[in-house]
Amino acid sequence: MTKLQELKKVIIKANPEIVGCGDKNCQNGHYPYQVSEDGAVDWGGCPVCVKNGIYLPPEREIRLADVLIALKECNHKISDRFLVESNGEFHYFDKMTGHFAETVINWNLKNNDLNNQSKPTIDFLHKLLCKNNS
Ligand SMILES: [Zn+2]
Repeated sequence: MTKLQELKKVIIKANPEIVGCGDKNCQNGHYPYQVSEDGAVDWGGCPVCVKNGIYLPPEREIRLADVLIALKECNHKISDRFLVESNGEFHYFDKMTGHFAETVINWNLKNNDLNNQSKPTIDFLHKLLCKNNS
């Protein structure tokens, strides 16, 4: 698995709605097509998530908000040590002194998709999220 794939796995764990068709009837690709009078359910593959018998649910893009939620859920102490500015810059933050360190990474807000972030951003988030989540 690449760093990006590992990172996605951790972020999706914290934000499960990233994966799936969004149809409330769909249960991991199983879809209730018909309910007979005796209440028996005729299950089939979800028309969106299952293609040729293979479960391949759609995934929406992973945005900065998903990363922030994953950071918060993964390790509270980590998210306490960071500040994310409105321009997408991540800074270390020293609670004792109240000072910021220089910019650690810069999330590209104009291309707000994890797939389109720089390698240093992916590497840094991987270090933060994947090392502390195993
Ligand atoms: Zn589905």
